[in-house]
Order: sequence, then structure tokens, then C-alpha cells
Amino acid sequence: MFRVRWFNAGIIILSASALFWACAKDFVTGKRRLVLVSEAQELAMGQQSDPAVVAEYGVYDDAKLAAYVDGIGQSMVKVSHRPTLKFTFRLMDSPVVNAFALPGGYVYFTRGILAHFNDEAELAGVMGHEIGHVTAQHGVEQATKQQLAGIGLLAGTVLSADFRRYSDQAQQALGLIFLKFSRDDETESDKLGVEYSTKAGFDAQHMARFFRTISRITEQAGGGPPTFLSTHPNPDNREQNVGALAREWQQKVPGPKGGTDRAAYLHRIDGIVYGDDPRQGFVENGYFYHPGLKFQFSVPSGWQLANQPTQVQMINAEKNAAIQFSLAKGTSAQEAAQTFAQESQAQVGRSGATQVNGMRAYMLISDVQTQDGGTLRLLSYFIERDGNIYVFHGYTTAALFDSQAPALERVMKSFDQLRNQAALTKQPRRVKIMTVDQAGDLRTVLTHAGMKSEELDELAILNGMYLTDRLERGALVKVVR
Ligand SMILES: [Zn+2]
Repeated sequence: MFRVRWFNAGIIILSASALFWACAKDFVTGKRRLVLVSEAQELAMGQQSDPAVVAEYGVYDDAKLAAYVDGIGQSMVKVSHRPTLKFTFRLMDSPVVNAFALPGGYVYFTRGILAHFNDEAELAGVMGHEIGHVTAQHGVEQATKQQLAGIGLLAGTVLSADFRRYSDQAQQALGLIFLKFSRDDETESDKLGVEYSTKAGFDAQHMARFFRTISRITEQAGGGPPTFLSTHPNPDNREQNVGALAREWQQKVPGPKGGTDRAAYLHRIDGIVYGDDPRQGFVENGYFYHPGLKFQFSVPSGWQLANQPTQVQMINAEKNAAIQFSLAKGTSAQEAAQTFAQESQAQVGRSGATQVNGMRAYMLISDVQTQDGGTLRLLSYFIERDGNIYVFHGYTTAALFDSQAPALERVMKSFDQLRNQAALTKQPRRVKIMTVDQAGDLRTVLTHAGMKSEELDELAILNGMYLTDRLERGALVKVVR
């Protein structure tokens, strides 16, 4: 929606190939306009970046729910401005409340946003908005504008920026900057969302209502709006604007407007994972545990950790030393180390075979050139375990290396089988749909259901209600267990 991310792996490839000017017909307005890419290139942008999105978020394992989302998406494509474009709808395993799209027809919904919808019409509104970004070719236009403006596509860097060129295709695409949409693009997508959802038979007033949920999540998060909102129109205005548009379109398009059966939607998401999933790794008492892959390693106090499906990144409080942990390619630790040194054109210093908690390992110290011309000194440990090679890259500057290396090495040497039994069986929290057996306000109902007082505000938002709203006996309510 909302934070729309157009991964530009495709755009990098695109800019490397010969650009040509073309005047294409705008699918939405029918006007001719200047674009720098053909439709085939637009499709390639999506196709090339989709694996990166899948690698970054992981696909949420619920075929039935995915088929449901796909069904709604496909029905809306049919009434859109590009009814013959092949769309792919994916359900991503992320707790973040988000939906986004790639050029060429890839649309992603997180399990976090699905948990927050309270009926199908809300889902359809967001779906229409995302389809709108694709049909109006917003990303493609943005690419054109950026190319015209000569803005460097690699301007933005993140923690792992210097490591991109050593990692696989998925990781490479991920670290690259995302294109940002203009407010005009968002406003246009809001309009298209209303149009498509209305034409597909959904009540677009519920799309407007979902903006209230978005604005409440933002408020509750505190400390400034999430990034996806900072470049977007104010959600309160959007609620009003979309509401007005919905009235307009409902007059234009006759027939009943549905998707408003709350109970029907809630039954579909009953049991959906809520918040972080500990089975994919979590930090507790100074350790990172990964129950799925059954390993653990220590996390120095004060360090921040980012756990992604393809890698774990950690950075110290001073932000001058970091560790990246992932799988490496190769059949042995030594071979993986050699491959790394070659591919990264590393100047290898000390290196040699070693052991980590009984596992065969290979240690390497090297200097690596960064993309901006600097040099980083790395301490790397390649460790063999269960047929896989795991790698830790600890990196800092040459000047700081001697002082930082011991802390980096302690983390790498702590890598071990998961020994904490409680961590192995830790289960995620899930949204459960509960029938109200005693009428009362939401606060009372949730409290009776055993919800903690500090969770009540969050649960009210999740239910699209206020704590003072009255629930009758037999009504459904989302709780988290
Ligand atoms: Zn958007």
C-alpha cells in the first residue's frame, strides 16, 4: 500500500543494457507518454526481482489462504485496465502490516496485513490499490524519471551494502534501494483501488475504513510514522478521500456491493501466525536461537540483530563493526572460503583450518574493497554442519580490526547445535477467532478472554474496533494466543 517496494534489480540490469526511448500508451489514461522501457522490460523487472522478495520475506505456508487471496486478486485484474496481464499474488511470511507490488504484475500481501483486515472488502480495497500501481506502471514511470534525472541507483546503502556483490542473486537485489512513489502515484492508486474493488463487487467504503486502521497502527507505534507513511498522503485524508470516491463509484456502478461479512473473513484467518515467528529464529538471554535449523550463537550485549530468511545481520552499538551470517556455497569449509576470496577479490591475510565446537571450520582474515572505494577488514569463519556450510563475516575497518576482532571471533566460536530445549518447542502466537459468550464492551470481552491489559489497544486495532465498542453475545472477536 502502503509501503510499495519496487525492487530494482531489474532496473539495474535495465540501465546496463542499451536504453531506448519509446512512446507508450498509458494503460489507465489512454494518453501517450514518454517511457524508457518496453512492456517486455517491465515484465522482466518483476520476474527478476520476485525471487528476491520471496527470499527476503519467505512465503507464508498456508496454501488455502494463498489461494483465497489469489482468487480475489484475479477477479479484480479482470475489471482492471490490464485484464490480460498475468498477475502473481503472493502471501509473505512477515508480521509487518504491508502490501506491495512489483512492475509487471507481482503483488504481495504479508500475513501481518491479512491479520489486520476485518472483512474481504478491506482486502479488496488494498488489492485494488496494488493492482493500480501495476496497471498505471508507476514503478516504470519512476524508473524513467530517475534515469532522466541521472540519479544514481546505488545511492542508498544499508548495513550490508559492501557485501552485496559477494552474495547470491536474491541478496543482491535486496540491498538495493527501493523506488519511492510520489503522492500523486499513491492518490492515483487509491482511485484505482476504489474503481477496481467497486467494479469487482466490493464495498469500497471498507477500503476507506482500513485507512483508519493504518493510521491507528502508526499512532500506536509512536516515534514517527513508519517509512511507508512518510512518503504517503496522510492516512486520515485518504480515509476521507477514498470514502468520497467510493460514494461516487457506487453511483456509477450499479448492483450490490459485498465483501462485508466480517465473520466469513475472520474464519479464513483463524490461526494465522501473529508477530514474529520464533521458529525462524529469535534472540533470548544473549543468544540467537534458530529452532528450524537447530543452531545457536551468542549475541554480544548492546548489539542489534536483524533476522531475515536468508541471513542474520548484527551491528555493534558504535556502528563500526558488524557481523553477517548466512549459508555459503561449497562442499567444504575450505572450498567455501576460497570461493569467497576469489569472488570478492579479497586480499587474504592469515587463514587456516580450525574447529568450532567439534565442527570442521576454516578461518580467513582478508581485506575487501568496498563499492565506494574504501577497504574493510574481515574476519570470516566458514563452518561445516549437517551438509551445509555456514559463514560468519565479521567486518570493520583495518584501523579498528585488532580491537574488534576478539568480540567478532567470540560470536563465531559460540556457533553450536541448539542446546536450549525450550527454544526448540517455542511456538508462535496466533490470531484465534473467539465467539463472545457474554455481551459487553470490547475491553471487557478481551479481558475475560485472558488478554493482558497492555495488549488491549493493539487488539482493538486488530479487530478494527474501539475498546468501548459493544459486542453482543455470539459476535466474533480476534484474540491472540
Ligand atoms: Zn501505494
